[in-house]
Amino acid sequence: LSVGITKENRSEARVALTPASVAKLKNAGLRSIFVETASGIRSQFDDEAYIQAGATIVPRDVALGADVVMRIRPFEPAEVEMLKPNGVLIGHVQPAINKELLDKLVEKGTTAIAMDCIPRTLSRAQSFDTLTSMASVAGYRAVIEAANVFGRFFPGQITAAGKIPPAKVLVIGGGVAGLSAIKTAKGMGAVVKVSDTRAAVEEQAKSLGAEFLKVHVQESGEGTGGYAKEMSEAYKKAQKELLAKTAKDSDIIISTALIPGKKAPILVTKEMVDSMKSGSVTVDLAAEAGGNIEYTVPGQISKTPGGVTCVGYTDLPSRLAAQSSSLYSNNITNFFLSMGPHTSKVKGEFFIDHEDQAVRGALVAENGNITWPAPPIPLP
Ligand code: NAD
Repeated sequence: LSVGITKENRSEARVALTPASVAKLKNAGLRSIFVETASGIRSQFDDEAYIQAGATIVPRDVALGADVVMRIRPFEPAEVEMLKPNGVLIGHVQPAINKELLDKLVEKGTTAIAMDCIPRTLSRAQSFDTLTSMASVAGYRAVIEAANVFGRFFPGQITAAGKIPPAKVLVIGGGVAGLSAIKTAKGMGAVVKVSDTRAAVEEQAKSLGAEFLKVHVQESGEGTGGYAKEMSEAYKKAQKELLAKTAKDSDIIISTALIPGKKAPILVTKEMVDSMKSGSVTVDLAAEAGGNIEYTVPGQISKTPGGVTCVGYTDLPSRLAAQSSSLYSNNITNFFLSMGPHTSKVKGEFFIDHEDQAVRGALVAENGNITWPAPPIPLP
């Protein structure tokens, strides 16, 4: 069995497999691992490190022709042509928004395994969960981006030159990315407040030393699968008032609020940002899904008339490429090996076990058919 990895698209600095994972796969009995020349260069892994780990450096078409191709970013539909007929692709596919890609994969007979579709509630799938590992990098990096453009210290200090107050950070959405941002901002000495519609976040935020902003309208924010749902008008109005009051007194706002399958809710209006001091910063992790902050320009950094810098980068994990690549590579290798030697009993082989809920959830195309969405997992 051969595995291939290539450079990602031009704007992407991550790589799907690190040399450490290559060595792990070789140890598991994989015969050939083909790495396109310079695939890891932007995430600090050079070709020599891959060779040392047991990979073969090859041109792009050879890597794409492997039995199993591993990737991070969804393929361009045109790239599917270069895959081996009836081969296997493992990576992010996002079938809900990439219909053309899914159709092309079906046409090619590709067995497509979408890392973004692995059921996250399965406890054994946690070590495969790229959405969690990448969100956690994004949350960290959001604070670093904010600190980079914020012209002041995060920690409060009393110095001979005067007293410096700690930076005040508001985190909106305390999921994986938000909790990671809270941890990072607290670690840097900021005072952190957090808003979320799910009650479970209150405990988690408090344990990280952040203050939870409580909306005084009783309503459960829990939707299916532990994700958020859209809230009532009364709740939204009360939350808006609370956010407006808090925004005015914040130096930095980091927003991460998403509702699966919907456009991100606008939670921070232009008016709220205009009420912030000049020099303040917003970072909108929901930018790709439309943004939580009205001023956000997706993919860009911009400045409001009132002097607030708005960061709308949509590639935060790629901006910390070495770390993200290591985590992604661990996730995809764990997942691949879970389908491999243990279950197939043949060293170096792997097979698609439809009874395995993690595999079935991720399988989006097989034998010329769309196999997405997977049937729901029965409750225990
Ligand atoms: P997400 O990226 O979909 O959303 C980010 C956060 O935004 C969530 O906490 C959500 O509640 C919040 N949000 C949505 N609308 C909001 C609004 N109007 N105002 C304020 N906040 C709002 O979520 P995620 O980080 O991928 O995961 C969310 C939750 O899913 C986790 O905390 C967990 O409960 C569950 N999850 C479970 C597992 C697992 O069981 N292994 C893995 C990952 C996630």
